Formats: sequence, C-alpha cells, structure tokens
Amino acid sequence: MQSIRTLAIIKPDALRSGDAGKILTVIEDSGLTIEAARMFRLTREQAGEFYGVHKGKPFYEELLSFMTSGPCIALVLSGENTIARWRELMGATDPEKAAEGTIRKLYGTSVRFNACHGSDAPETARQEIAFFFSGSELPEN
Ligand code: ADP
Ligand code: MG
Repeated sequence: MQSIRTLAIIKPDALRSGDAGKILTVIEDSGLTIEAARMFRLTREQAGEFYGVHKGKPFYEELLSFMTSGPCIALVLSGENTIARWRELMGATDPEKAAEGTIRKLYGTSVRFNACHGSDAPETARQEIAFFFSGSELPEN
C-alpha cells in the first residue's frame, strides 16, 4: 500500500508573527508524522509555478508577492487520511470562516495571509511534494 502523504507549508506571515513553532506543535499533537522539512524563500518564478492553477485569478499577483515576501517552511506529513486531516486542522481558506481552534482561525489574519498551505488531493500532493523535495531528502518518494 502506498503511504499517503501531503505537503504542508507554513507561510511567510506565520514565520513573521512567530507562530511557526505553534503550528508545528499542532501538527505533532495531531498525531500526523513530519517526514521531511525545509526552510527557504521562494523565488517569484517558483511561486508562480507552484500556484499555476490560480493564474489569471484576481488574487494571483498578490499571492505571489506574499509567498515571496519571506521564508516558508515546507513539510511532508504522513498518517491516516493525511490530506483531509491536514486540511481540517488548517481550517477554511478564509480565517473568518474557519472553525474555532483551527490554525487559520488562530494564526491567519485574512483570506490571503492565512498562515498555511495544504495539498487538496492525492495527485496534487504528489506533485507538490516533488516540487520541494528530492528523492534523497524523502526516501521511497
Ligand atoms: P487553499 O489554500 O485553502 O487551498 P486556494 O487554493 O483557493 O485555497 O488559494 C490558494 C491561496 O491563495 C490561499 O491559501 C490564499 O493565500 C490565497 N487566496 C485564495 N483566495 C483568495 C482571495 N479571494 N483573496 C486573496 N487571496 C486569496
Ligand atoms: Mg489550494
């Protein structure tokens, strides 16, 4: 059986506000496993490719400015039902609509500055993990 993984990103706003450690604690307390982690600052080109699906949308250019505004932490998470569980822990895209206790409710400040990213389906998870992690950083990838 293929192990189910997802890509999580702690976005630049959460690093700036000093909430990255708290978000890592939420992940550890959830029982999900952190399999790999990298901290980096995205180039505009990388951010454009990563968010290519949103190209042409009204928020696209500002999303790229945000995502290149400081370092991110990318994580590979695994566990049971990982993709859905991580999205549930994050909460809705818009922190105002996110459930109480979710990461975006706690640490997000707007629909753009929403503290974290999570893959939305198995195929995108696979692509997004490969975007940031090489096989040697993540055995059995
Ligand atoms: P999610 O991150 O929940 O999967 P989307 O894939 O729809 O949400 O959007 C990607 C990211 O683009 C969001 O996490 C957020 O940072 C930003 N974004 C989405 N919608 C808007 C919007 N209406 N205005 C500004 N930024 C947005
Ligand atoms: Mg998305």
